[in-house]
Amino acid sequence: MLRCEICGKSADKHHIVHRCQGGIDYPLNIKHLCPEHHRGSKGPHKCSEVDLKYKLELQNKLEKLLPKEYYTIEKLSHLLEIKPRALKKLMINHKLHKEGYKKADVIYELMGKMIYDEVMLEHYYDFMPVFNLA
Ligand SMILES: [Zn+2]
Ligand SMILES: [Zn+2]
Repeated sequence: MLRCEICGKSADKHHIVHRCQGGIDYPLNIKHLCPEHHRGSKGPHKCSEVDLKYKLELQNKLEKLLPKEYYTIEKLSHLLEIKPRALKKLMINHKLHKEGYKKADVIYELMGKMIYDEVMLEHYYDFMPVFNLA
């Protein structure tokens, strides 16, 4: 049985980059969350701050896992546990250089055609008082 990573209760799989955002099925993109921590008020589907936090965590993990500039499909497949066929499909719009695909392009695609920034999380807090004044 899967256990919630936050409270230890029985859990389901959550895709950090949601499937509708282009997220694919591989271990790093999966988080085990109980119904409350998944779809409850403090879960990533209801709370955009939590959603963003999980995405930043994933992006940071990818950056650490891929320190080099270029990666071949074989290497990516091994490191990320993604099938070569799924990787080729993911990278279809990017140039395959002789050294492989650009790490930045790979991360951009894995994050759902987005690069997230810690600043987004800071701005989330900055905007709150503005909303309260309105
Ligand atoms: Zn939980
Ligand atoms: Zn989910």
